[in-house]
Amino acid sequence: VELTEACLSAIEGAGVLGAFAHTTPERALDDARAADAATEKTGLTGIPLGIKDLFCVEGVPTQAASRILEGFKPQYESTITRQLWGSGAVMLGKLNMDEFAMGSSNETSVYGNAVNPWKVDDRQLTPGGSSGGSAAAVAADLCLGATGTDTGGSIRQPAAFTGTVGLKPTYGRCSRWGVVAFASSLDQAGPMTKTVRDAAILLGGMAGHDPMDSTSADLPLPDFEAALTGDIRGKTIGIPREYRVDNMPAEIDELWAKGRAMLEEAGAKIVDISLPHTKYALPAYYVIAPAEASSNLARYDGVRFGRRAELAPGDGITDMYEKTRAEGFGPEVQRRVMVGTYVLSAGYYDAYYNRARKVRTLIKRDFDEAFAAGVDAILAPTTPTAAFGLGEMADADPVQMYLNDVFTVTVNMAGLPGISVPVGLDASGLPLGLQLVGRPFEEGDLLNLAYALE
Ligand code: GLN
Repeated sequence: VELTEACLSAIEGAGVLGAFAHTTPERALDDARAADAATEKTGLTGIPLGIKDLFCVEGVPTQAASRILEGFKPQYESTITRQLWGSGAVMLGKLNMDEFAMGSSNETSVYGNAVNPWKVDDRQLTPGGSSGGSAAAVAADLCLGATGTDTGGSIRQPAAFTGTVGLKPTYGRCSRWGVVAFASSLDQAGPMTKTVRDAAILLGGMAGHDPMDSTSADLPLPDFEAALTGDIRGKTIGIPREYRVDNMPAEIDELWAKGRAMLEEAGAKIVDISLPHTKYALPAYYVIAPAEASSNLARYDGVRFGRRAELAPGDGITDMYEKTRAEGFGPEVQRRVMVGTYVLSAGYYDAYYNRARKVRTLIKRDFDEAFAAGVDAILAPTTPTAAFGLGEMADADPVQMYLNDVFTVTVNMAGLPGISVPVGLDASGLPLGLQLVGRPFEEGDLLNLAYALE
């Protein structure tokens, strides 16, 4: 109860960060009292968590930071949050994010942007996106951990921008049931925490097979915390040469070298590897993700969920769809739906969508070959820069924003687990993250390697 009260008052005091979209203080205190009284405790009993606004929590407004879901209160609970409450975790509230998880700066949210608690002079910085509220809340000590989702980098990039730890599990490790869908073949939820150990504990609460999600993997759930032995001797770490992109700031390169040295010192072997199709990942992602989004977002029709636009006498069903979507979806979401319907349309399907799917197979094969050659994990920067200023990129060409995902999207395309760990600061004192990418369903090993970077 004490811990929950401390978080609730911290949230109140940090309103300017815009991290929480909605708080549930009474529910939190009820959960906390129940946790204190529980006779059987888990690592999550009594731990106050924030939940990204993409997860359905029964009876609690769930809007995916979109105007179109205004007024939607789910009658059901996502599998992940159901498991978390079952383990005794405390629900503090819903966290800010980019609308439908589309973005890299938390600036497309209907709630307004979230703010990075890290500052340089008076410049307000983005906490990254789309799980920007989650990252800001963890970094500012408003909660002990948060859920995030990662379709193209939305857990790892905000973790890197805020000096926190973010893990995208293997596709299929955590159930997607009850999590608002963006791009179903890429979406994966995961933990955002202050430390690697916390990530292991929170992942343990979130993961597991779920018959309600046909893509959820029916595999035994290892003890992720027990995997943190600190012993990484004999592990082989691949350094992909294609991730050394043009114009990479020297400090990112130095950070990468520092990470290599830390792992080597701990007994790992460092090898150069090639992932030759890396350069096609970003364009292919920005075909596949919008294609799936355009299909997933068709359910927001003004009838089944949330908000319906006001109609004029004589308006028909098409007017209702058009008016509801025109006022309900923000510009980035509309852009994705247009790109998605275009690449899926009869005349362009083969040229864009099918081509992107083939590229995806090649990207996956690059990783398979590296792992088959004995690499245990791959080390790369999480992002090409430190956190940028609010408004700086949103006003530019949208493609500039997409370039943020250059190091993260490949991992979603291949369905692999990836973790971002804070490893250093840039010249102005802002946090920078390194990313480790592991073999499928080897999150324990991956966490243990990340532990050596902490
Ligand atoms: N920035 C990427 C996008 O806008 C990733 C989003 C995500 O991972 N949810 O699509």
